[in-house]
Amino acid sequence: AVASVAPRLVFSEFSLRMSAVDTAETYEFQAEVSRVMDIIVNSLYSNTDIFLRELVSNASDACDKKRFLKLTAKTGSEGSLSDTEELAIRVRCDDKNRTITIIDNGIGMTKSELINNLGKIAASGTSKFVEALKDGAADLSLIGRFGVGFYSAFLVADRVTVLTKSPNDQKAWRWESEQTKNFTVTEEPDASTFLPENASSGTSVTLHVKEGMEKYLNDYKLRQLLELYSEFVSFPIYLWMSKI
Ligand code: ADP
Ligand code: MG
Repeated sequence: AVASVAPRLVFSEFSLRMSAVDTAETYEFQAEVSRVMDIIVNSLYSNTDIFLRELVSNASDACDKKRFLKLTAKTGSEGSLSDTEELAIRVRCDDKNRTITIIDNGIGMTKSELINNLGKIAASGTSKFVEALKDGAADLSLIGRFGVGFYSAFLVADRVTVLTKSPNDQKAWRWESEQTKNFTVTEEPDASTFLPENASSGTSVTLHVKEGMEKYLNDYKLRQLLELYSEFVSFPIYLWMSKI
């Protein structure tokens, strides 16, 4: 009896490991994306503050899209859009874990939207961006205009984790990249672990802050930056303050 127990244990451990490896899918960034990320990191080093504006503006766009979807949803089809939740943006920094997280309860992304929106960019956006770079006079801090704002996350982070849930996808997804050639997409078992209470959809972007960027792991610094940008955002922005 004892002999038959040991192989079963070995087998279950093996199959658990297999399934964990199985679930992470690796994708390659479109060449233009890798190029744009390199340009951003190498040319905007004196403008690192802009990451927060770009990520908050994406969160705000996502809230706008959800507000529109709610307004236009046909009666009976809005089941996945909870009506009670306030559309809002939340920012939290955790200096112990060296992370900054921007959370919205906006429209979120399906798996294919995640792969397309955060892995490819419209060629026009890239070439305009590259042109603007050559033309030294252009203000590159306005990268939001080129449709590449998300990648400014890598100005302050060496790893970015995006967790997202769309009303059009039963599953939630995790996107992760270390600004190499690749990113991974993994199923996220429980959207309630990253969405605000009562939220039916949304996105959480976590920046794993790189060495030298510690100044952003500070509530007051983030508040100062949010005060600069928030006047253009029509949704409430909540900043988690740890030391009051
Ligand atoms: P832009 O905002 O100009 O389209 P970005 O590089 O900032 O360019 O973002 C790329 C795309 O990624 C967005 O158009 C959007 O589809 C998707 N995206 C980024 N952040 C979010 C978010 N918080 N919620 C939903 N979609 C997002
Ligand atoms: Mg944007």
